[in-house]
Amino acid sequence: MEKGSIWVWVEKADGKVKQTSQEVLSQGRSMADELGGSLLAIMAGPVSEVNLEDLCGLPDQVIALEGDGEGGPSLIVETLEELIRKDPPWALLAPGTPSTMDWMPRLSVRLGVEMVSDVVGMELLEGGRLRVKRPVHGGRFLVEMESQEGGPRLLALRPRAFARKTGSRSPRVECFPMKARGPTEVQVLEKAQREKGFVDLSEARIVVSGGRGMGGPEAFFLLEELAAILGGAVGASRSVVDSGWRPASEQVGKSGRSVSPDLYMAFGISGAIHHIMGMDSSKVVVAVNKDPNALIFQHADLGIVDDVNHVLPALIEELKRRS
Ligand SMILES: Cc1cc2nc3c(=O)[nH]c(=O)nc-3n(C[C@H](O)[C@H](O)[C@H](O)COP(=O)(O)OP(=O)(O)OC[C@H]3O[C@@H](n4cnc5c(N)ncnc54)[C@H](O)[C@@H]3O)c2cc1C
Repeated sequence: MEKGSIWVWVEKADGKVKQTSQEVLSQGRSMADELGGSLLAIMAGPVSEVNLEDLCGLPDQVIALEGDGEGGPSLIVETLEELIRKDPPWALLAPGTPSTMDWMPRLSVRLGVEMVSDVVGMELLEGGRLRVKRPVHGGRFLVEMESQEGGPRLLALRPRAFARKTGSRSPRVECFPMKARGPTEVQVLEKAQREKGFVDLSEARIVVSGGRGMGGPEAFFLLEELAAILGGAVGASRSVVDSGWRPASEQVGKSGRSVSPDLYMAFGISGAIHHIMGMDSSKVVVAVNKDPNALIFQHADLGIVDDVNHVLPALIEELKRRS
């Protein structure tokens, strides 16, 4: 193991490195510098698709995993296991996204090493130990966990919990084959293009979420309109997703996505702990609910006790008037 080498799993969307991955690269760079080691970025896809500018001058080296990149989580696990067993890093960091949450726990079991998800803070301690922080109980508490000396450690970082920075390194780029040793359980049949102007929920600076209080799937066009005006993303409660009103990819909460936007707006959401767990690190929370005793108000910086059917159209009209 090279002294203090840090690996970062990098994700792309529409050919560009995602902001959440740039945050992880930034944190990885700081750790590698503190440990006196190097930073390696690993990404799926051919070398020709590696855009060094997107890596912000942070890594020392890039490995492009070329091959059956669409073989699903098992293929990623197999490939990373092979790489890690050959030359274990001090830690492997990844953004906490639905995709990494699919393969990282499997990799941790395969390697028999610890994994921590939803990391919001990291600190290197004496003797090569690492202290990480993660929120629990809907963000009411932060737990601190310490790992013992020796790695590798697998850490999934909460999106938007770490600042992005830039460096001036020109990494060398190498490729490594990503090939299934046996049949994989996933076959990609079709790829759908994202709509123009699509904002990823995990990366959004503004999230406008709707709950059952929206009344039905039709009412969500108001949230789509509001999101478009604000340049934000639409989120939803689990009740809404379970009712088939919105896709599962929009679910915020314990069994959905974790978001940390600058502004989180909750319309007709009761504020059950399972929902709060996914948005408690938002900087400013605005809640609209017709029940003055709704739990969501306990987590809101600004609360409006009213019907969403009054507030939403008025808000949209006012924003349009001002723009
Ligand atoms: C293991 C587990 C995991 C879970 N994971 C998640 C998760 O990831 N995400 C999640 O969201 N939930 C999750 N849940 C479900 C969670 O406990 C709640 O049931 C769910 O969040 C409630 O959704 P809601 O607030 O939309 O609906 P409700 O609880 O039905 O609340 C609707 C709210 O809308 C208000 N309202 C109604 N009409 C109007 C109106 N016209 N104008 C304004 N306000 C109105 C009501 O006063 C009420 O407060 C999970 C539950 C379990 C057990």
